[in-house]
Order: sequence, then C-alpha cells, then structure tokens
Amino acid sequence: MSHYHLVCLVCGREFAPKDVEYVCPDHGDEGVLDVVYDYEALAGEIELQDLDMGSMWSYRPLLPVPSEAATPPLKVGATPLYESPLLARRSGVRRLWVKDEGVQPTGSLKDRASAMALVKADELGSAVVTTASTGNAAAALAGLAASVGRETVIFVPAAAPEAKIAQLLAYGSTVLLVDGAYNDAIELCLRAGERFGWYNRTTGFNPYMSEGKKTVAYEVAHQLSWEAPDVVVVSVGDGCILGSLWKGFHDLIELGAVDSMPRLIGVQAEGSAYLADAWASGEDVLTKAPIRPDTVADSISAALPRDRLKAMRAVKESHGAFVTVTDEEILAAIPVLARTTGVFAEPAAAAAWAGFEGAVQSGLATAKDRVVVLSTGSGLKDVPAALKAVSLAGLEPRHVSSDPATLEETLEEFDR
Ligand SMILES: *Cc1c(COP(=O)(O)O)cnc(C)c1O
Ligand SMILES: [Zn+2]
Repeated sequence: MSHYHLVCLVCGREFAPKDVEYVCPDHGDEGVLDVVYDYEALAGEIELQDLDMGSMWSYRPLLPVPSEAATPPLKVGATPLYESPLLARRSGVRRLWVKDEGVQPTGSLKDRASAMALVKADELGSAVVTTASTGNAAAALAGLAASVGRETVIFVPAAAPEAKIAQLLAYGSTVLLVDGAYNDAIELCLRAGERFGWYNRTTGFNPYMSEGKKTVAYEVAHQLSWEAPDVVVVSVGDGCILGSLWKGFHDLIELGAVDSMPRLIGVQAEGSAYLADAWASGEDVLTKAPIRPDTVADSISAALPRDRLKAMRAVKESHGAFVTVTDEEILAAIPVLARTTGVFAEPAAAAAWAGFEGAVQSGLATAKDRVVVLSTGSGLKDVPAALKAVSLAGLEPRHVSSDPATLEETLEEFDR
C-alpha cells in the first residue's frame, strides 16, 4: 500500500499510483492529477521539528517515493534564504527574504522536479527520460540524468537561451530544437514519449513534478522556524512552482507544522499573462484560448500554462493575487536584486522582485508583512539579457589603456 493516491483536478476521480501514470484518462492532457497523502497517518510518523535540512530528500516521508529508493547524487535543495533589510526597507514591509534557487546544481529551481522524475523513472525501469521545456527544466533533467547515467531526449524551442542549450549538450542529452514555441515542443514531446515509452517529465503532465517543487515551501517554513511567511512571491509561466508552493504549505498545515497559508503572489510578464488575465477577468482556464507570448523572460513564456488549474487554485485559496510586469521592469530588477542582496537572477527570476514592487503599490503587501521572494534561476543562464539589463540601467564598464607610458594618467582617472 502506498501512502498517497492521485486525484483528477477536473473530475475528482481517484487513482492508486499503479493505475495511472500521468493524467486522468477521462480528461486527457487537461486532466492534471494532484498527489494526496493520508495526513493523519503521516502526522504520527514524522517529527518535522527534528529534521535537518540536508537536501530536498530530507522530507522524504512527505514525498511520493519509497523510503528505500535511491536518489541522484547531485545535491538538490537546501538552498539559502537570505534576509534583506535593504529590500524590506525599500518596499516598506516588516521583513523580507530572498530564497536563492540559482545555486541549485544546474542553476534553477527545476532541479527539484527533475530529481523527482529520475527517481520515478527508476521505479518504472524506464531507460530514457524525456521532457519539453523552455530550457531550465530540460537542463535540470539533463544534469540529474547525467548524474545517474540515464539517457535523455529533450525538446526545446529553437529560441531557448544559448547557455541552457549548452548545458543540455554538455550533459549528453539528445537535443531536439523545435522549430516553434514551447507549446509546440510540448505536443511533440508528449506524442514521442507515448510512442517510444520514454518516461515523461513534462510539467503539468507529470503529476509528481509539483511534489518535487513543493519542497521549496517546506524549506522556507523550516528556515523560518516553522512559521509561515505572510506573503510568498514567485514568477509564473506554466504555474507549476506557484501550485507547488500552495501544495507544500497545504501539506504543512494539514500536518500541523505551520499555522497559516501565506498569500501567494504570482508574477507574470505582461507579454505572457494568460493566468493574470484569467484572474482579472474571471475566465475559466479550461476554456480560455492560448495566447501569443512575447517576453524577454523565456522561462515564464507560455501560450497555455500547463499547470493552470493548480496555479489558479493556489492564488484563490491562499487569498493571493496575480500581477504583471513589463520587460523593462524585469530587466531593471536584475541589477537591483544583484546590488542589494548579491543574488544574480535570470530575467524570469528577477521578475518576482519586479512584481513585488508593483504589488506593494497596489496594497497587496503592507508594513505588517513578512515576505519571501523566490529567485528561481541564476543570472548566468542568460548573459545577453543580463548585459541588456545593465546597459539599460546605465551601467557600463570603463575602458582603460594598458600603456605604461600613460600609467600615471590612467591611475589618476581612478581617483574619484
Ligand atoms: C520554470 C521557471 C519559472 C516558472 O515556473 P512555472 O512552474 O513554469 O510557472 C520561473 N523562473 C524560472 C527561472 C524558471 O525556470
Ligand atoms: Zn478526470
């Protein structure tokens, strides 16, 4: 007997883990599944207060994996939570922390889900693992797979940032650059996975990816001594991280480990605001048509967010909100975050800080609040965007001569 079962978010049908692999058969690709635990039984078995935070696997009893399952050797999770009095003052909230997911083994929060995918693939004995991704999920899968010697086939949009494609190739993946957008890559990947029997990590299709990502919520609670923050801010593309934050805090509330659900604020790029638009208009995300996304923040560019049901639930049930930010605001946030905290974020990650500044102006967070901003990926993932960001902020290097004859003059120039 397994300590969890799966529930279709569309119809509520329940499944034992062995009876379903990805989605509800009655609802096809839309029938995203939730993993539900027997919280009463679990509450008696684990003492969260006594746990050390060594990696995401520290929370193994709350994850859909057997206690004896081998986990990949790369250290995923246990990322730092940095308090920033400067950013708290700047935004006018009581306290503010930045959770730096850029220090994960492959440079983004996606490692949490990909590590989970490899354990599940192992359970099923699948020789090949596949995913479609805007880049980071793929890099994460490729890196984690390399660490256990498993083969990967990756579908990414041809326009994905170079650093992410370089990671895939270095890690040894078979890389398929899809001549189209992220959604086209997903279609291809789902059909190829079916045809060839590859284990599929694709977000919003594989129900276990949220279970890997929810460990970021556990860590935040743990790092704040099991007191939930009032607000958590995260950028949103497919909505999987947002939904996973809700799931993580929901688990902890059910287990009596924390008292309250933080208000979850999802930040979308103005040019890729499917969920923010649906939130504002009250439109049903099961029938709302895809959009044509266009943003500098590739990791949150999504025509039809795959995990839209979980994302909408997260914001609704946490009394949170969606906000949008322009590409200019996203790029401007990169040097702000870097200079105030030392955390260098890729555009999609910096978007969370940009969105939070707007959220404060709209009254979504106030002077009473303790706030966590998730920085989801490293700035090294997209160097051209970072260069654009510093240039827009008026930050330019100075050129100096190396001629010994003019050394004195050169040095005098430095004397400011
Ligand atoms: C994937 C990703 C996001 C968005 O996560 P979703 O689950 O798609 O909403 C944000 N930032 C970074 C760096 C990412 O890689
Ligand atoms: Zn269903």
